[in-house]
Amino acid sequence: MQEVNELLTLLPSASGRDKDLITRAYTFAREIHKDQKRESGDPYFIHIFEVAKTLAGFKMDAETIAAGLLHDVIEDSEVTEADVANQFGDEVTFLIKGVTKLKKYQYQGLERYAESLRRFLLAVAEDPRVLIIKFADRLHNLQTLKYVKENKQKRVAIETLEIYGPIANRLGMGRIKGALEDLAFPYAHPEAHKETLVLLKQKSKENLAYLEKVHRSLLKDLYKEGIKPVEVDYRVKHLYSLWKKLQRYEMDIDKVYDIAALRIVVDSVADCYRVLGIIHGAWRPLPGRIKDYIAAPKLNGYQSIHTTIFTGDGGIVEIQIRTVQMHKEAEYGIASHLVYKEVGKGKMRGERDFKKKLEWIREISEWQEHVAETGEFLERLKKDFFSDRVFVFTPDGDVIDLPQDSTPIDFAYAIHSDIGDHTSAARVNARMVSLDTKLHNGDIIEIVTKKSSAPSHKWLGYIKTGLARKHIKAALAKK
Ligand code: MN
Repeated sequence: MQEVNELLTLLPSASGRDKDLITRAYTFAREIHKDQKRESGDPYFIHIFEVAKTLAGFKMDAETIAAGLLHDVIEDSEVTEADVANQFGDEVTFLIKGVTKLKKYQYQGLERYAESLRRFLLAVAEDPRVLIIKFADRLHNLQTLKYVKENKQKRVAIETLEIYGPIANRLGMGRIKGALEDLAFPYAHPEAHKETLVLLKQKSKENLAYLEKVHRSLLKDLYKEGIKPVEVDYRVKHLYSLWKKLQRYEMDIDKVYDIAALRIVVDSVADCYRVLGIIHGAWRPLPGRIKDYIAAPKLNGYQSIHTTIFTGDGGIVEIQIRTVQMHKEAEYGIASHLVYKEVGKGKMRGERDFKKKLEWIREISEWQEHVAETGEFLERLKKDFFSDRVFVFTPDGDVIDLPQDSTPIDFAYAIHSDIGDHTSAARVNARMVSLDTKLHNGDIIEIVTKKSSAPSHKWLGYIKTGLARKHIKAALAKK
């Protein structure tokens, strides 16, 4: 049987008070669920315990772990909210209620789900630990998905890919995003999963062989220059994100260069650039594939330098360079800001940098309140938040992030509505282009405005963002 000590050993710095809270929650939950079974036939408490273990593994605080242990007690028993509040306090109760907000509705697409999703996101914006518990819960449900009925499998899997994955991504939680998506993928798209797996197996072997050669030779060069990497490893692309990329390249795997990538973790930002210099001194980089996400981080906070090189013996491989701190951020995202701290626990929700990352959650959850039509809210949700993004630049080097397939008009409105409304032409990378040109990562865009220019009906067919649509419609209505 699962013992509470197994949890407590994961939390060496927990205080006596924390241990007491966790132990009480453990005992309570075990009693409540003692006669319940999972679809697998396993005791229900195994699920509860696995969720709590994941949270302890993330080094979450005692309240979060207690809420993890109690996350199903109100729904599945006679226990009331008041009982939980009496025994475990308001904080734990709030977390449990937040987690439950997304439960009542079966997922049948974003449309029917909008209101419960909004309420859930409001709870998350108030306390992001709600989200971490929900992720831990979903992770274990996906791990045991083979035991549930087929139609439910599909629903849970698709919900994971459409909601949880994008949220994890937006909060920079690379590790949990990868895990959730790869677990859901075979249930959501069984054929595509098989096909992608075969492609990955064929190609990653070849790719890793090239990488190993580069790795050995590069390490020698680095030592010669006095750079001692903290960590060097290979990462093989997550299956689901490989599939999504393949779809953009007509399933041609030879066009995907980051199937396996060499990852070099060093101490300082200065060393990152030195490593880049050493790599480019030894191998020829592919033009246009050097991405400096250190100088221009992705919207979710991701930082690294990526470069793709010709190995010289027929191979093409990607190398990623980052600092220890960037590595932690890329793997755990906001979760790394929520870790248990012995002193000043109350402070954790006050971190500024961290708050910024939650801004978009607050923004979308509050947004719907001001919009009459749910349809409009969903359009924005899908296009602006749950789709792939491109990162482009103003002539001054400011990064503007837009949904994939955005055009100069989307860009213009993202800068300012006045610029959007008076766009007459656009230059992309110093070349004149038509206004329906699709923008690509790294493009530098310059908008030419004219006082006499105004939005036309045609523009509505060019744009991708809800923001541009809103302004164009308003301008057309005025005419
Ligand atoms: Mn659960």
